[in-house]
Amino acid sequence: MAESYQFIFIFLLILTTAVEFYLGHRQKNFVLKNKKKVPSAFTKIIKLADHKKAADYTVSKINFNSVELIFGAIILYLFTLGGGINFMNNIISNNFDRSLEFYSLILGTTLVICIFFIVKFFVAKFIKQSSSIFQKAVKQANARKKTIFLLFVLVALSIFTACGVINEIYNFLNSHFDDELINGAFVITSVFVVLHLIGVPSSIFHTFGIETKYGFNKVTPKLFLEDQIKYLFLLILLSVIFSFAALWILSELETNWWLWLWTFLSISLIAVAAILPDLARIFDTYTPLEDKTLKNKIEKLLKKCGFKSSGLFIKNGSLRSTHGNAFFGGFGKTKKIIFFDTLLEKLNNKEIEAVIAHELGHFKRNHVKKLLLIQVILFFLIFYSFGGLKDNQAFYNGLGIDISSNTNFLILLMLVLIPFVMFFVGPFFSRLQRKYEFEADEYACEFTKSSDLKQSLIKLYRDNASTLTPDPLYSAFYHSHPPASIRIQAIDKS
Ligand SMILES: [Zn+2]
Repeated sequence: MAESYQFIFIFLLILTTAVEFYLGHRQKNFVLKNKKKVPSAFTKIIKLADHKKAADYTVSKINFNSVELIFGAIILYLFTLGGGINFMNNIISNNFDRSLEFYSLILGTTLVICIFFIVKFFVAKFIKQSSSIFQKAVKQANARKKTIFLLFVLVALSIFTACGVINEIYNFLNSHFDDELINGAFVITSVFVVLHLIGVPSSIFHTFGIETKYGFNKVTPKLFLEDQIKYLFLLILLSVIFSFAALWILSELETNWWLWLWTFLSISLIAVAAILPDLARIFDTYTPLEDKTLKNKIEKLLKKCGFKSSGLFIKNGSLRSTHGNAFFGGFGKTKKIIFFDTLLEKLNNKEIEAVIAHELGHFKRNHVKKLLLIQVILFFLIFYSFGGLKDNQAFYNGLGIDISSNTNFLILLMLVLIPFVMFFVGPFFSRLQRKYEFEADEYACEFTKSSDLKQSLIKLYRDNASTLTPDPLYSAFYHSHPPASIRIQAIDKS
């Protein structure tokens, strides 16, 4: 039996890699073939030089992706049949105490950061009611926000360590929770941390190689490092919490564990989607829109469309790149329209209104909710279909894993099963998203001028160097947005 699983695994690994490689190859050829001439619908706004740049940019990205694809397949092979997951299991189990010390420190740091923000919140409240001398001091302090934050964390951590708080966390974890659960959460987290670290050189090349070459990159090495540290911290924290909870469900709720795990994941998925705009603040700054004329216009539009939100925010996208975008985040009371500052500079007020009307279309037609619901249903089907593999020793052995355990099952679920399913489901997802784009465009045309929407879209394609001539098959497989020409045609008709 183990041989059958091994055969299926290797077959799917080669198949998915080969298909993606082939699609990339097609895209490259198609774009190069159409490089010499701007499609007639775009000649007014897009110059030949822009068109050529978009082609070169697309080809560079495809070349890079092809290398990453092969590399990714090799890494997956090394982690499974190559013995990587076994190795991680052994190394964490043999160094359990050290791992626990490390994670206690991470939890302690989280506690310190939370305290910092609580203090900051109350200080801000107090300052608002106090004298102007205070307010001036705060303004000066704000300029050195990062230094103050780091100092606070370092000092508080030293005090925590000296007073034995970190030790207390260690003892608490050690005495209140099952060793196996903690160990499992560490193994899962370590696997994902290692996978992330393996990918760092590739993101360095993407940011400082390709993006810089085409003039999009604004990330400095310092900012890159800061982002990486924040990301890693967040990854460790969330992974430990989520895997611990998932492992607890697997071990405590043995019958129907998959139903419980599915419920837990669905709730988490929805919760994360709801707080995503707030979570993103760890990396970006959102400021309320200040331009009064524009603000009035947008508020009128929102009223006309019957939209209530916690506001319209400008994201400091220009800190990282010159790419521009607008999106709609969260739902219910947390919903926000987020606009990149880079986009604000490039579009005129009417075009901005059209883009916002498009985003409102997504909201009014419940696109975010529908996509979430489909994901939840998909997870149900995945758990229902593959739950039986959890106690199937042959499955583990076929994939090169020595021990069948809840921990290893969760790792294989996230590393192998879900990605394979997503490969086959992805094109349907993309198709649905493209349908939603048409619907949102249609909505925008009801409330704003279609010529403004068209103009803004073409500008977006131009300034992001998105190709106007994607390969139809590539586009059908991957793209969440319809090709520019088809989208413009649809707007013309409505
Ligand atoms: Zn859209």
